[in-house]
Amino acid sequence: MPHPQITIIGAGAAGLVAAIELEKAGFSPLLLEATDRIGGRLKTDEVDGFLLDRGFQVLLTEYPEVKRYLDVKALDLKAFRPGGHVHTRQTHFRFADPLREPAQLVRSALSAVGTLSDKIKLARLGLKLRTTSVEDCFPGYAEVRTIDYLWSLGFSEQIVERFFRPFFGGIFLERDLHTPAAMFRFIFKMFSTGKATLPAAGIEAVPKQLAEQLKTTEIRCNTAVRSVSGTTVTLADGTEIDSPGGIIIACPPERILPQLVGTPTEWKGTTNLYFYSNRGLKENRLINLVSDPTSLINTFSVLDEVAPTYKMKQQGGSLISVTLRDMMPREGIIGQAEQDLLRHSRLPNDSLKFLARYDVAQSLPKISPVAYRYDPTHCRVTDRIFLAGDHQLNGSLDAALRSGRLAAESLLSV
Ligand SMILES: Cc1cc2nc3c(=O)[nH]c(=O)nc-3n(C[C@H](O)[C@H](O)[C@H](O)COP(=O)(O)OP(=O)(O)OC[C@H]3O[C@@H](n4cnc5c(N)ncnc54)[C@H](O)[C@@H]3O)c2cc1C
Repeated sequence: MPHPQITIIGAGAAGLVAAIELEKAGFSPLLLEATDRIGGRLKTDEVDGFLLDRGFQVLLTEYPEVKRYLDVKALDLKAFRPGGHVHTRQTHFRFADPLREPAQLVRSALSAVGTLSDKIKLARLGLKLRTTSVEDCFPGYAEVRTIDYLWSLGFSEQIVERFFRPFFGGIFLERDLHTPAAMFRFIFKMFSTGKATLPAAGIEAVPKQLAEQLKTTEIRCNTAVRSVSGTTVTLADGTEIDSPGGIIIACPPERILPQLVGTPTEWKGTTNLYFYSNRGLKENRLINLVSDPTSLINTFSVLDEVAPTYKMKQQGGSLISVTLRDMMPREGIIGQAEQDLLRHSRLPNDSLKFLARYDVAQSLPKISPVAYRYDPTHCRVTDRIFLAGDHQLNGSLDAALRSGRLAAESLLSV
């Protein structure tokens, strides 16, 4: 007996993993994607000889689901150095992670990122989270705001402004640090035990590698789904596809499932700018954290210092990725951001060329409380309809991969 047809909607990381798991169980799913290519939020464009990710994002090597599904060696990952380069209004300085780079202990102790007591607390927190399981990062912290957690641990305003707001604000895409502390603990653990990296071929190499694992799945791009009812998937052009084996909705479901209209996913957005500098900028593979309230910039990174392949042609100069403090889709911010970047990087006035901007309104889902995993009934709408996507758990690639697996397992268990 052939296996009944299963349809997956959305070919982001979650949908691709769902397909991998269903293939393992002997199914040949149909994967429908609204846009012209797979990958969802993990996309890389080639512009003027540069690799530009659609929004600055890093691959954390310690994510449990990354270890499960990705061949990190084949991705040829290039790592950022732990620590950061802080730019305040008056000054700038580097700091290292003394737990990861013991040789930098003195430099770290002397850096102006925080008080000595802050640094001791930071080291203690790092050590504690190293021995805490990922699961245990979540219970009890899923509804506490990160900023309240940091105050409760006794951190000073200095280290909150100079390190936590730009660093975790850049990860959570909100500098108020209202994201649940569970997420802070999880990400802090990932950073202190693993590496923050870029695949040599850009972040889109991640979904490409997932898709390469598929053998019998049929992927149809440019195929938007309008609605789902029972076991019928209706496409935007009115075509109906019967899916007696089940349906996994691996994208925000509210536009597709009439019963969920009125509970839309809320999103955090970001604006990411790319500049080419005709002067090489040696920033030592660190993420630059901007703690200057007059600047539009939250973080910037010299990408080719980390991953030289992001500069595809043999040429001098540097490729700089800039993430703004908030999503700022209005015109006129590029000139202002360029001035801020010149100031922070101390590059001469005519050295920057603007390359591209990405306004990604739907970057990370706003979720509270967040979760690491759930029981199989959580993602089950009916016996035949299941939900996947990072919005089911927490805003991370790990959650997207995990949700795809859990939705497939849930479908297979019914
Ligand atoms: C700028 C930015 C920075 C980020 N930084 C990080 C980071 O540093 N670390 C980290 O862990 N995560 C980061 N993320 C989050 C990470 O990229 C996501 O968690 C992950 O890619 C989400 O995968 P997904 O499959 O759940 O959703 P998506 O990637 O959104 O996939 C959903 C897919 O469904 C398709 N679709 C939607 N509607 C329909 C329809 N009606 N019919 C058919 N198809 C449809 C979409 O086109 C899309 O391809 C970042 C994201 C962005 C945008």
